[in-house]
Formats: sequence, structure tokens, C-alpha cells
Amino acid sequence: MARIPKGMGYSVCCSQYGMLTNNFIKMEKVKNLSELHQVKPALCLDFDGTIRRSKSGETFIKNFQDIELMPNIEKLIWRYREMGYLILGISNQAGVAHGFKLPLEIENEMEATLKLFNQNPFHIVKFCYHDGKGTIEPYNHRSLLRKPDIGMLALMESEAWQNGYVVDWDKSLFVGDRPEDEECAKRAGIEFKHIDNFLNGVHEFSI
Ligand SMILES: [Mg+2]
Repeated sequence: MARIPKGMGYSVCCSQYGMLTNNFIKMEKVKNLSELHQVKPALCLDFDGTIRRSKSGETFIKNFQDIELMPNIEKLIWRYREMGYLILGISNQAGVAHGFKLPLEIENEMEATLKLFNQNPFHIVKFCYHDGKGTIEPYNHRSLLRKPDIGMLALMESEAWQNGYVVDWDKSLFVGDRPEDEECAKRAGIEFKHIDNFLNGVHEFSI
């Protein structure tokens, strides 16, 4: 039986991961199965140090008010979205497992981040609270959702399917700032770009 730490509300401790997924435009009714699913590549984006950073200059975001988007990132993500890419957000948030933050605080920071965009470009956003090296039950156990494992990508593939899309991983791109992002991309067989190269490089769309 999982032990819930004192002072932490049960209701915010019982979810394994957070998600914001209501950004699909509903598919119109189709006549036959072959028209049911569209195949699309995905642009997978890490959050911290990739699409956002702290306003305060601290390594970690202090709270939902201490967030700013990376310069030019919004325009760039929208270029991919307009080219037909699915836009997937994938973020480790082990501050929960280590006792620095509550899941509710992480959710508030995620929502505040999306509100910084003039228009939210993400189809799906997922974030994982677990870390086997953490101290807070029940999040201090290894999770296959945590990068560099590909669990969150697999969940997003499944949700995209339920919304009428097949993710074309062979033509997808993963953008991040840390070795676990690159390793996650490698394990999933997705091309990886460091955020610095993504912001400053040439873009070839594989769609
Ligand atoms: Mg990062």
C-alpha cells in the first residue's frame, strides 16, 4: 500500500502522471476505415530548457509566475504545426518524487506555460512525476514513463490514434536540451536535435 506523505493532499498524489490533451480538432465522421486515420509525423518537445526557462535565471522554475518561453520558439513550433506535424510535449517533473513540488504545482506551471503562447500549439502534453532516486512515496519508484524510457511517447501514440492519427515516428523529430532527451529519442528511433540547433538551424520538413 502506497504511503501518502503527511501534509500532501491525497487527491493530488494519486495520479501517476499529468496530461493536457484536449487540443485535437474533432475528426469529422468518415465513410470507411481507410479514411479513418491520418498519418502524421510528430515534433516532440521537452519543456524545461527547451521551450521554457525560469524568468529568475534559476536552474529550476520556482513557481508558475517564474516562467518565460524561449525566444522565437512559438513561431517555430507553429511552422511545424502548420506543415502538418503533431506537436507533443514530453517533460520529466521529478521535483515531485524529490519532494520539491506537489503534482498540483507542476500542473499549474504547465498550464501557465501554455498560456504564454498566443495560441497553444500542443496536441498532447505529458509529464512524469516519478524518479527511482526520489524520496517521496509513491513517486520514488522507477517508471517506464520517465525519460529516457519511451513510455510517455507510447501513451501519446495511443492517444493520437484515439483521436484519428497515426504517428509516423520515422519522420518525426525530438527536440531537447539534455542527454536523457537524446537517449529517449534514440530508444524510440526518432531523429534528435538539441534546442540550440533547433532554434538556429535550417529546417527541413519531412511531410
Ligand atoms: Mg529539459
